Amino acid sequence: ALSDRLESAWKTLRGQDKISESNIQDALREVRRALLEADVNLQVVKDFIEEVRESALGAEVITGVQPDQQFIKIVHDQLVEIMGATNEPLAESNKPPTVILMAGLQGTGKTTATAKLALHLRKQEQTSLLVATDIYRPAAIDQLVTLGEQIDVPVFQLGTDANPVEIARQGLAAAREQNVDTVIVDTAGRLQIDPEMMSELADIKKAIKPDETLLVVDAMTGQEAANLTQTFHDQIGITGAILTKMDGDTRGGAALSIRQISGKPIKFVGVGEKVEALQPFYPDRMASRILGMGDVLTLVEKAQEEFDIADAEKMQKKIMEAQFDFTDFLKQMRLLKNMGSLGGVMKLIPGMNKISNSQLQEGETKLKQTEAMINSMTKEERKNPQLLSNSPSRRRRIAKGSGYTQNDVGKLVTEFQRMRSMMQQMGQGQMPGMSPAGGG
Ligand code: GDP
Ligand code: MG
Repeated sequence: ALSDRLESAWKTLRGQDKISESNIQDALREVRRALLEADVNLQVVKDFIEEVRESALGAEVITGVQPDQQFIKIVHDQLVEIMGATNEPLAESNKPPTVILMAGLQGTGKTTATAKLALHLRKQEQTSLLVATDIYRPAAIDQLVTLGEQIDVPVFQLGTDANPVEIARQGLAAAREQNVDTVIVDTAGRLQIDPEMMSELADIKKAIKPDETLLVVDAMTGQEAANLTQTFHDQIGITGAILTKMDGDTRGGAALSIRQISGKPIKFVGVGEKVEALQPFYPDRMASRILGMGDVLTLVEKAQEEFDIADAEKMQKKIMEAQFDFTDFLKQMRLLKNMGSLGGVMKLIPGMNKISNSQLQEGETKLKQTEAMINSMTKEERKNPQLLSNSPSRRRRIAKGSGYTQNDVGKLVTEFQRMRSMMQQMGQGQMPGMSPAGGG
């Protein structure tokens, strides 16, 4: 790797530079709690955390962040990856119509989602036919017909006396005849998973060979989403899911359970009762919502942006050529400051409230003091600290300008020179146990 000696120097001053068991312990506990609060299934949480922890141990810490902050970001990124890095669109048959089968328990929002999908497709100039196979609840067919009228999409139905498999079969035939692009088959659900419902669904699936079998899951299902997904996936085989009722205050942990267990993507989320209330599934948004640690994530992202590689390489060259000066030093300090006040930053971190206010204040004061003194230096002085070692009058001027004592200025110069020569040695690979510059 590029030898970020400067970074290492900073980190030794600031704390740990690698993610280890001990420096992420609090963060680990916070993440576990966040996932459970978001209603992710317990076993899913355990497996997930174990995976992330193992892959994170030993990772280098980014400049300007703490190991546990970075760990939370790693968890977040892993969540995003698991849930599908990009949004997955609906499957499309190359021999239309595309057939979509809706599956799920009663009351989860299947019928509503059927209409929502049709509206979504219509906006893409695709035609659909909706098929009503829920013959068990008297109002179910009417519900779909009413929704169809609302969005101006036809509904195929044979009343409540026909056989659901037969309705599905004939509905598909009608769709072929009418040359519609997509046929969406709404099905009956039960309050609990029962063998009768499962076998009916399996029969419908066999009869129409869908391109998509979408499991509709109520986001409020919570922990049970895992079992539900397992059962449907084992017995029916799903290709994706729709997570409904995300407009509520649920954190959406069901999303992770569904994905971990079935390996299938969540394609849409329902965010209201209206037919328009359907959104594509965005894994990164969902990951942030599940973790509920938006502040930390923003912070780490900011740090990553601020310290770009090009800068690091330039700095590295300067260090090796002993050109690292007060201007560079100031730049590094501002990088830290840009991320907000030290106190503000620390408070974002779970478990960090143990740091005393006076310790925080001391750190902030020191940063401020150093910056003020560097600001009072001339360009030449910043470039060449030696000028300051040799001239009491320069030190006096800087002390006056910054509001600190000559002693403070003297200390800064000495510390800086010690740091610089140390970094130079490291840069030239002269430190025991360090690999030569540029290697490793
Ligand atoms: P089904 O039994 O699976 O067909 O479920 P329905 O489509 O009949 O929906 C059951 C109830 O949930 C209805 O009152 C819907 O209006 C409501 N519903 C469906 N999707 C959503 C959603 O995304 N958000 C909210 N708030 N309500 C929804
Ligand atoms: Mg229904």
